[in-house]
Amino acid sequence: MKLTYQPFELELKHPFTIAGFSRASTPLMLIQLAHHGYTGHGEASMVPYMGESHQTAAAFLNKVDVSQFNYPFNYDQIITYLDSIAPGNPAVKAAIDIALHDLDGQLQQKPCWQLLDSNPQLMPVTSITIGIDTPEIVLQKVKEAEGCKVIKVKLGRDTDKELITTIRLVTNVPLYVDVNQGWTSREQSLDMVYWLQEQGVQLIEQPFAKTDEAANAWLTERSPVPIIGDEAVQRLPDVAKAEGIYHGINVKLMKSAGMHEAHQMIQKARKLNMKVLIGCMSETSCAILAAATLAPQCDWADLDGPFLTRNNPFAMPGFEDGKWVLSRDAGLGLKL
Ligand code: MG
Repeated sequence: MKLTYQPFELELKHPFTIAGFSRASTPLMLIQLAHHGYTGHGEASMVPYMGESHQTAAAFLNKVDVSQFNYPFNYDQIITYLDSIAPGNPAVKAAIDIALHDLDGQLQQKPCWQLLDSNPQLMPVTSITIGIDTPEIVLQKVKEAEGCKVIKVKLGRDTDKELITTIRLVTNVPLYVDVNQGWTSREQSLDMVYWLQEQGVQLIEQPFAKTDEAANAWLTERSPVPIIGDEAVQRLPDVAKAEGIYHGINVKLMKSAGMHEAHQMIQKARKLNMKVLIGCMSETSCAILAAATLAPQCDWADLDGPFLTRNNPFAMPGFEDGKWVLSRDAGLGLKL
């Protein structure tokens, strides 16, 4: 088996603003695993606040000994091996895991969704995210998102109600809200939740700081809208810790170190009767198809990466009626 990789800078259509910061592009590491004439593709999307970069990813990949990846792949063993190289680094670990799944599917001549027991008929609609911006830009973004069935809105500033009201001028589609830890007052947050419910909001992500378990649990206990932990839930052990604090979790491959552990997180959440949202970072078709493979096992999907970026190096996957279409092609079904 041969591992190759290239740094890539994924450009955003609009500078992305959420509570706390703003950026115009995202560093990616694209990787390939070649074996018996097949090539598996993987991707690390390294949003700055997660602490990974082209340098950390290259340093990690240079330590990976691909002779550890014996076929048939034992994913538990492989993730233990990757964790033994260095802690953290979830995105570059995800890139390897995604490439292995793509390769695995090609070697077995089966689509990845079949390897992971997903039913493509159960694919949820995917939301498209509108970042915090001026009313003019917000309206332009809503127009660009035409055809999508759900809009996700980033809140967490004093202009929150204005932003929602602006969106409601032009569309009645359901909304998901992501506060990105931006709220601080319990009582105000509950008033806001009731107001958001009236506006057609169906879920709220990470209202308070991830470390403030008491405030998040307080709101979850009272909120008529599902409260979802995102920043607080990174890898498998975090799912059990989220029980009682959130109604559900946001699973992302770039946090979970890939598809294998994301699948385990979904199964764990189901056992605990928790809801599951599957989300993404700024990603190309590669990581989005990998997440879409698991989306039919989730309640909601927020897999909008390719809609918000301008230089996706892969073909756009099929998208119909607001949903990603999983093909019968072997592996991820990624087209170059
Ligand atoms: Mg979020």
